[in-house]
Amino acid sequence: MIIIDGSEGEGGGQVVRNACALSLVTGTPVRIENVRARRSKSGLMRQHVTAIEAACVIGNAECEGLMVGSSALTFRPGKVVPGDYRFAVGTAGSTGLVLQTVLMPLLLADAPSRLVLEGGTHNMLAPPFDFIARSFLPVINRMGPSVSARLVRHGFYPRGGGRIEVDITPAPLRPIDCVVRGAAISVSGAALVAGLPFAIAEREIGKVRKELNWSEREAYIRELPADQGPGNILLLEAEYEHVTEIVSGFGQLGVTAEQVAKRAIGRMRGYLESEAFAGPYLADQLLLPFALAGGGSFTTVKPSQHSLTAADVIAQFLGRRPTFVQQPGGVHLMTLR
Ligand code: AMP
Repeated sequence: MIIIDGSEGEGGGQVVRNACALSLVTGTPVRIENVRARRSKSGLMRQHVTAIEAACVIGNAECEGLMVGSSALTFRPGKVVPGDYRFAVGTAGSTGLVLQTVLMPLLLADAPSRLVLEGGTHNMLAPPFDFIARSFLPVINRMGPSVSARLVRHGFYPRGGGRIEVDITPAPLRPIDCVVRGAAISVSGAALVAGLPFAIAEREIGKVRKELNWSEREAYIRELPADQGPGNILLLEAEYEHVTEIVSGFGQLGVTAEQVAKRAIGRMRGYLESEAFAGPYLADQLLLPFALAGGGSFTTVKPSQHSLTAADVIAQFLGRRPTFVQQPGGVHLMTLR
């Protein structure tokens, strides 16, 4: 059994999700201690519990310590069974993070699966649906499997109620090299607003047009039905020949529309100024599929704590470690050692 100290490194929920996914793929039991010990509310939260429950269901796993607040978890994997599954995150927990837990085991299974995931689709500290669909999944699809995701209904914190559907056709993961972005194709910015004053989105988009010099056609407002709110997110997207980056600013109480826009603009500028293929979030999310493919490479910005911690968990399970080496132009190259 592999023992992981959840308080080491970045110490968030990603350690638990990656460990359960790797446990299912490799058939190796895992115990995670000190779960999220360094977070202000330590232990498992509702959305982590749902993600691990989903892993138990698809992988016939047995789990001890699976409850909200739990600080230690033992996960014994069984056989992964592809099929039709529906998982609902009770609160507005992120559907994207549930997907992060079950996707690798299902796309390496021996038959297709269909997932219906209900909860939040645009949550802070989690990949928004748009990021999953247009930034993350296209890279996965280049590796062999075929995964498509549809947004049926938006879900924002705290109300939730969102729904996404994901179709997964498995295939072995093939190593690929993602070193250059290719030619720039387009940029776009969308301020989504649901059940909140339209002026919030106007202020966000106004700042994007002014500071990034994006046109009215490139930066626009999308008003969603009020019953999908209250919620607001600003999504900024840069599409290249080989990769699309999406950065987000999450509207929240006590943060002005200008501050939301400023954060997203800062992140987009950072990406546009670099030559890296993957931004910081895409990088940590690609480590698992690349490690399971057994090779390949990508360039990224300076590796985040999330990436370094994911690399440690991967090395414990697979005996190969994603390694980042800074290149002359400043980008970092990820390869497996
Ligand atoms: P954790 O903080 O350990 O629960 O992990 C959060 C996960 O969500 C990581 O895989 C991050 O890459 C991902 N994530 C967080 N914020 C964003 C964002 N704005 N866009 C895309 N992915 C995100």
